[in-house]
Amino acid sequence: MNEHILIVDDDKDIRDSMHEFMEKAGFNSLTASSAEEALKILKKSPVEVVITDIILPGQDGLELTDLIKENCDIDVIVMTGHSDNYSYEEAINKGASDFIFKPVRLEEVLLRLKRVLRERQLTKERVQILGKLEKLAITDALTKLHNLRHFYNQLEVEVDRANRYGHSLGLLLLDIDHFKVYNDTYGHLEGDKVLIKLSQTMRSCLRTMDSAYRYGGEEFTIILPETGAEEAKTAAHRIRKAVEAEKFFPEPNKPCQVTISIGVTEYCKEEEFADFIKRADKAMYLSKQAGRNRVSSLFAEQT
Ligand code: GH3
Ligand code: MG
Ligand code: MG
Repeated sequence: MNEHILIVDDDKDIRDSMHEFMEKAGFNSLTASSAEEALKILKKSPVEVVITDIILPGQDGLELTDLIKENCDIDVIVMTGHSDNYSYEEAINKGASDFIFKPVRLEEVLLRLKRVLRERQLTKERVQILGKLEKLAITDALTKLHNLRHFYNQLEVEVDRANRYGHSLGLLLLDIDHFKVYNDTYGHLEGDKVLIKLSQTMRSCLRTMDSAYRYGGEEFTIILPETGAEEAKTAAHRIRKAVEAEKFFPEPNKPCQVTISIGVTEYCKEEEFADFIKRADKAMYLSKQAGRNRVSSLFAEQT
């Protein structure tokens, strides 16, 4: 336990005794005699909890609480005398985590501080877990690419943006060639390795603003924001070549190759989202019909 806390009180005796008590309890305790001084300390020190008196020279403890809660992730415990005109509600409404009446018993302050820290830790863990769950919900378990649900969400966002700002928007649909044969020959696990590796290959061919998705079993999509037809075709050729260059060893000393067929299209302003996807799919089928391991494109004016 080495959390940093900051004690703010203009009464030197209270400040010093609380500081000594908290240091003994294992905290890194800092002190300030005014809100202004406290704010300076907060700028340079990693404080987790501030314990502040309400009545201070200059800005008072409630104003300090307000400023802290607006600008940083720090908990505040406020202290006030029974006779002061400040209420528990006022302090809590400002975002304080707890409220202590003066004269304070140091043991009580310590207990409340520990409770605030425990809640802080729990909140941190909850946020982390939620973040992980959110990521899991949009990630394909096998390939770690984004999943279909995220594809639809993101495509909608990009289509909106393209309509609003008149940006171009490219879409690729990619399908592994004769993948059933690969699975039948080497087994499903070897097939899975291909899906994982090709996902990495695809990702390595993209710019940071582009995004790749597992669309279905052995089908993938790539959204290329602010990308016109020619650039989208170039990206598709780059991916096709990179996939062709990968070597797989489902059996020792017998390298084999996997190829993909790609369909390329560009968004046509105000068209339905579903028509956009359908055209990419049709373009991909043109590649299949033409013999696979190639890139075909289809644009709105051609359909
Ligand atoms: P085409 O060139 O026409 O695309 O031929 P294909 O064999 O790739 O296409 P088809 O649609 O006939 O078969 C798709 C195969 O993809 C069938 C299935 O075994 C394989 N597949 C789909 N999802 C997975 C997966 O998660 N893991 C593995 N190993 N294989 C998968
Ligand atoms: Mg397929
Ligand atoms: Mg296929």
